[in-house]
Amino acid sequence: MSNWIRESLHPDYAQALRVDEMLYDSKTEHQRLKVFQNGTFGRVLTLDDVVQTTEGDNFIYHEMLTHVPILAHGAAKRVLIIGGGDGGMAREVLRHATVAHVTMVEIDAGVVDFSREFLPMLSDGAFDDPRLDLVIADGAEFIRQTAGGYDVIIVDSTDPIGPGEVLFSDTFYGHAKRALTEDGILVTQNGVPFLQGQELHNTMRAFRALFVDATCYLATVPTYAGGPMAFGWGTDGPSRATPLDVLQGRFDATGITPGYYTPQVHQAAFALPGYVAKLLP
Ligand code: SAM
Repeated sequence: MSNWIRESLHPDYAQALRVDEMLYDSKTEHQRLKVFQNGTFGRVLTLDDVVQTTEGDNFIYHEMLTHVPILAHGAAKRVLIIGGGDGGMAREVLRHATVAHVTMVEIDAGVVDFSREFLPMLSDGAFDDPRLDLVIADGAEFIRQTAGGYDVIIVDSTDPIGPGEVLFSDTFYGHAKRALTEDGILVTQNGVPFLQGQELHNTMRAFRALFVDATCYLATVPTYAGGPMAFGWGTDGPSRATPLDVLQGRFDATGITPGYYTPQVHQAAFALPGYVAKLLP
């Protein structure tokens, strides 16, 4: 298995990706950062040997964590991204001409610098967009002191190990709620429930205490192995009930041509299979 990387996320289950060419392998201040070329997924970014994003399937994850809350909200002007160092999340948010300002808070400058050089297709110019304000800081610190006023907050973090752990705490979620506008929406990367069900349960417990509407929605991202990935959803607003024709009108007005997102997929993503619904308190 010398030219393969075996993921180190789960104690008794792992995916492996063949390394056709190791492009970068170094330790930043916070984590071990690798990028390698894989025949199926193109360039693959891992942090501490856990797949973060790939050239081939990142569109699914980034489209579903951006277009779902932004189109459901309908008038999002200010968006906050916590994490997202590769730039893919910012790329998709900035496709919305109606979004006036994006703040992106990434703890590891090494991930940003590195992604700009080795994974430019992920950010696709987002780092040079005048609407983007990049802040290098711990998202847990930023959320504590921010003046808020965000219509959508997207937590695009690593899993709750290492620097990402603080972004799964009740304290963090409480500050995030305070940083939202009245009908603002908080969405979170919440792992693969078949393998990380406790993470989703913990987040949903916290969201149920904070928001009128607390649930999750799903999308299957091939390199987040183990079945559909869950995205936490919390809001006090009515946006989850946005009718399909309204979603369709908003979507058509954007001129965006996604590879995964459609208004029908948006609505269907909130239909939860029994084993996931059971994880919601
Ligand atoms: N799509 C990936 C996933 O679902 O696992 C996440 C991609 S993105 C690379 C994750 C980013 O979160 C990394 O750049 C990492 O440095 C950042 N991060 C981790 N902990 C953080 C924290 N406390 N504050 C801000 N950014 C953090």
